[in-house]
Amino acid sequence: MSVIAIYHHSTAELQFPWVSMTERLPASRFPESADVYFCDKCGRDVTRHLYRGRAHVRHPIGPMRYGCACGQTYLTGATEWDYLSDWDKRQWRADVGLAFILFVLLLSPVALGYLAYQRRSIPFLAVFVASLVFAAVFLRLFGLFLLGFADIAWSIWRTRVLTKVRKLVFHNSALFS
Ligand SMILES: [Zn+2]
Repeated sequence: MSVIAIYHHSTAELQFPWVSMTERLPASRFPESADVYFCDKCGRDVTRHLYRGRAHVRHPIGPMRYGCACGQTYLTGATEWDYLSDWDKRQWRADVGLAFILFVLLLSPVALGYLAYQRRSIPFLAVFVASLVFAAVFLRLFGLFLLGFADIAWSIWRTRVLTKVRKLVFHNSALFS
């Protein structure tokens, strides 16, 4: 990041890099590269609601628009699951297989621990302890997969259920007003 920032910065900042290393842009210029995006209208920091896509990385899943508290709306760079490309969906579906393999791998320390306990065997115990180190890494990966799947579920809920509920509420309030 810092190297790229130096390239992007003006000569003044090159001479005094401690002056400012963060690039700020109004959110309307997103997805132009910046570290911080602020609302054009009210100046609120909206960075965490915007997703910068990268080439060869799957599209982020999330609401397509973000409405600032002041009423201004911005494109977030994310797409809901239902509108993702087939390529993106295929990538996610491949993750299900990987997550399953990880799950099986996570079961192996359990089996090893059980064997070590059953046989009161020191070598088995050593293998069990070693497998726990790998399991910690796998568990983290597995957790990331689960978070990804939760994002998809939440996205489907937003597009298929919440939009309908909103339409229904709007329709009824229009009827009674
Ligand atoms: Zn605003």
